[in-house]
Amino acid sequence: MQPLLRIVGLHKSFGGLRAVEAMAASVRQGDVLGLVGPNGSGKTTVLDLITGALKPDQGMILFGDRRLDRLPPHAITRLGIARTFQLVRIMPSLTIAENVAIGAMFGADPCSPAEALARALPLLSRVGLAGRADHPAARLTYIDQKRVELARALAARPRLLLLDEWLAGLNPSELVQGIALVRALAEDGITIVMVEHVMDAIRALCTRVLVMNAGRAVAEGTPEQALSDPAVIAAYLGE
Ligand code: ADP
Repeated sequence: MQPLLRIVGLHKSFGGLRAVEAMAASVRQGDVLGLVGPNGSGKTTVLDLITGALKPDQGMILFGDRRLDRLPPHAITRLGIARTFQLVRIMPSLTIAENVAIGAMFGADPCSPAEALARALPLLSRVGLAGRADHPAARLTYIDQKRVELARALAARPRLLLLDEWLAGLNPSELVQGIALVRALAEDGITIVMVEHVMDAIRALCTRVLVMNAGRAVAEGTPEQALSDPAVIAAYLGE
């Protein structure tokens, strides 16, 4: 079967710094791919290259038959790719529902603002924000900001969801809820690429793990295989 997402020979430098180097990966429909590696290994840059926020210096990113690396970000979103950000991006002057509705208005199945608000409501229940649609998004707790971000990404009706440390910083009971929520999304057929440091979450959720170090993919496999690879242990220990 053709992969849903294929990354071939990807390079991205910032000045003299090689952030992503000769990176290759493929993600099949239904995968939950964990992208792990030490800080600065290039994981977020890979997400930025997939979503079009950055353009590669070399290489190719294919989504089905479509070449993403030549498209602007809004066109990539329209194809069905949505993400959450490591540093959450909430608009504090809007309500919770309005923040989520933005995802629907600019997503894979764009709609009017009124319909976008209607679509937001069931998503708020899904992420644990039921009954709070009209609350201002200012001064939300950290977990609630993360919930809003996830609901906004889901409102875009993605086929591929990119999560950038969505489970980081949650307390143990929030983490259990968060893992259950991500698992339910995967069971609904959304393919997921998750940058994550929480190894319990990686083990619980991922069908495959890709380990990056210094811009390169250094190991790949099931969570057990990838995380026990000597190159991975060396990368994490900084040898
Ligand atoms: P990770 O997500 O694995 O922590 P990043 O992809 O954020 O790593 O960063 C990879 C490297 O690229 C780091 O050395 C980082 O400092 C650098 N980098 C990332 N974005 C930029 C940028 N916009 N300008 C300059 N350097 C950057």
